[in-house]
Amino acid sequence: MNLFAVLDQAATRFGDRGAVFRGTEQLHTFGELRDRTLRLATSLSDDRDTGARIAIASENRPEIIELMFAVWAAGCAVVPINFKLHPREMAQILEDSGAAVVFASPKIAPALTDATDVPVEVIDSPEYVTRLSSAATRPADTDPGALAWLFYTSGTTGKSKGAMLSHRNLMAMTVSHLADFDSPDENSSLVHGAPMSHGSGLYIAPYVLRGARQVIPTSSGFDPEEFLDLCDHHPRTSGFLAPTMVARLVATGRPRPQNLTTVVYGGGPMYVDSLKKAMAAFGPIFVQLYGQGEAPMTITGLRRRDHLDADDAVLGSVGYARSGVEVAVLDADGNPAGVGEIGEIVCRGDVVMSGYWNNPAATEATLAGGWLHTGDMGSFDAHGYLTLRDRSKDVVISGGSNIYPREVEEVLVEHAGVEEACVVGAPDQEWGEVVVAFIVGTATEADLDAHLLERIARFKRPKRYIYVDELPKNSYGKVLKRELRDRVPE
Ligand code: AMP
Repeated sequence: MNLFAVLDQAATRFGDRGAVFRGTEQLHTFGELRDRTLRLATSLSDDRDTGARIAIASENRPEIIELMFAVWAAGCAVVPINFKLHPREMAQILEDSGAAVVFASPKIAPALTDATDVPVEVIDSPEYVTRLSSAATRPADTDPGALAWLFYTSGTTGKSKGAMLSHRNLMAMTVSHLADFDSPDENSSLVHGAPMSHGSGLYIAPYVLRGARQVIPTSSGFDPEEFLDLCDHHPRTSGFLAPTMVARLVATGRPRPQNLTTVVYGGGPMYVDSLKKAMAAFGPIFVQLYGQGEAPMTITGLRRRDHLDADDAVLGSVGYARSGVEVAVLDADGNPAGVGEIGEIVCRGDVVMSGYWNNPAATEATLAGGWLHTGDMGSFDAHGYLTLRDRSKDVVISGGSNIYPREVEEVLVEHAGVEEACVVGAPDQEWGEVVVAFIVGTATEADLDAHLLERIARFKRPKRYIYVDELPKNSYGKVLKRELRDRVPE
């Protein structure tokens, strides 16, 4: 089973129907999308080995869809790259994955070409268009366990790790989405508001399988007004949005577009107050997912009807185990925790990755005992609702993007005017969380901003700096991050 079958089936059933739209403009029918995909796949097979990793670094563009299915049809694996990363960070992912080529948007390609030795091919360039004149040949058979999506998440050590997801993993995610959250058909649409290198891109599979439209905003990003307009224009629309994007939709003050039926939110904490405001503005169209790169989009969830007449405990939870996934909370000794007892959240099922790319030590630790150890802490209530209590990994989730404190700290301490630095997340109404840096040293805020801009992505820069004489530490010399978090003024 190869994920290309998802498109193949849709094209067989709905060949003449619109598949890919840029804004309101139809670009390709399902038949045309399959044809383009198979031509691209032939051109990729001509110069790559089966199993090659092929990276995509682009803001949201229609070509991402044909590239994904083409890479799969060619028996290769997609390496999606967050387009907001610094070229240096992108280059690290390309090197670690051993990518054979990276398809980059015209916006990203020039800086990326300077940063990496991996061949960069510009999406929609004459070279790309030539690929589309290759013959369309049938794809080879693929083992369902073969690598389909090499998904880079950062670790607390700051080094990116590639979660290896197979065709089977993504199919399990697809089936679970259709079972639990949404039931699109050929008169439905998926509007891509969030980055397609992450959750929104993963949702392409379930919606293509049902013959639904893929709608890519002309802005290539998330503009709440444009998103709502597109949800009004296209039939029976759904979208995946980070909690901060949901808040921005609410802030427009507009009513729910009639055709908007489902908004899946997740990937970071959604505060109960924000959720209530969103439901008051748009009605009961919300679905929550809790997942991570290692078990994409699919650990627990709250369905639409679970939001109705729900108390704050349910709205503040991440729901219950998804179809096909077993979820448990383990205590410090690795035994199942009792109701209300906080422990590490673990899960298992067909959606869970096979391990980290070229990193057996991390794989062994994360998949110990046959469970995926999420690193998230939480507890179950008596009805199986899971509440996240704290993230043991200290990840800061700002505007739906994960920021790993260690990465920022390492760059801060490279500055001559910084003796010590510690980065924590602080709650923020607009962004969910923001990065706050505690600094021991003489470097000014302007110095540090300039220093960071040269080295890491803009969105990872601290929104606040707090200067201290020393960092609080325990007897092992470990910085007490919890104490620092408490020191951040409201
Ligand atoms: P990523 O691997 O980048 O998708 O990040 C996954 C992490 O985001 C999880 O381990 C959680 O810590 C957090 N997360 C995902 N979904 C939710 C949610 N619904 N509520 C709170 N945190 C979440």
